Amino acid sequence: MAGRRSSERRNRETVLRPAMQTILCIAAHPDDLEFTVAGTVARWTSEGRTVVFCLITTGGAGTNEHTPNPEGLIPRREREAQDAVRILGVKELILLGYQDGMLEPTLALRRDLTRVIRRVRPDVVVCGDPTVRFYGTEYMNHPDHRAASSAALDAVFPSAETRAIFPELLTEGLEPIHVKEVWISGSLEPNAFVDIGKTLDTKVAALKAHVSQVGPAEWVEPLLRSWAVRDGKRSGLELAEAFRRMVL
Ligand SMILES: [Zn+2]
Repeated sequence: MAGRRSSERRNRETVLRPAMQTILCIAAHPDDLEFTVAGTVARWTSEGRTVVFCLITTGGAGTNEHTPNPEGLIPRREREAQDAVRILGVKELILLGYQDGMLEPTLALRRDLTRVIRRVRPDVVVCGDPTVRFYGTEYMNHPDHRAASSAALDAVFPSAETRAIFPELLTEGLEPIHVKEVWISGSLEPNAFVDIGKTLDTKVAALKAHVSQVGPAEWVEPLLRSWAVRDGKRSGLELAEAFRRMVL
């Protein structure tokens, strides 16, 4: 019985099906994906899958702590984002150039994201959770994060797959596409967990590439490790990232 019990130890890793070869990750700011899903991204690229990042804003509002003078920040953040995607093995970085700190889930943004989805033609879209207003008692979810994920989900469904929505995209040669799965990070109701034991170091390196945001960055490794331990505990894994996975 003891052996049986140990084999029943909860290991709830969710392995992305082999048919899911192209993944599009959408975020508001240049460092958002490194904070949240980069361990999973490094895992997927190491398995030979194609991952594309789409960053909606320039990141020009930066941080007060490490960038008190924002002059020249936008090209710097672009370089940092390029360094990070190189570390993660991401194939393409798409920058939409919206103003940092002012993002709204407009129809124009939904159309721009629909255009990206129809061009990249992903099997899976990764984004944040627009329904979360508060995380615990210390972090209020950034309005750009909520706007970005709300527009991203609306672009996945119904805009990307519906011919009659944004017909101007058809004239650009962009045919509808049905996205098969959505993986939502930062959800308060996760149902999918990815083992990042082998990729946490890569995630740390990618976030550290955003020097203008994280500074000397001694705190990056312990913080990301503590999050990975927390999500691991919920899934029987040592180190994990958590998602709400939707199969559409
Ligand atoms: Zn952000």
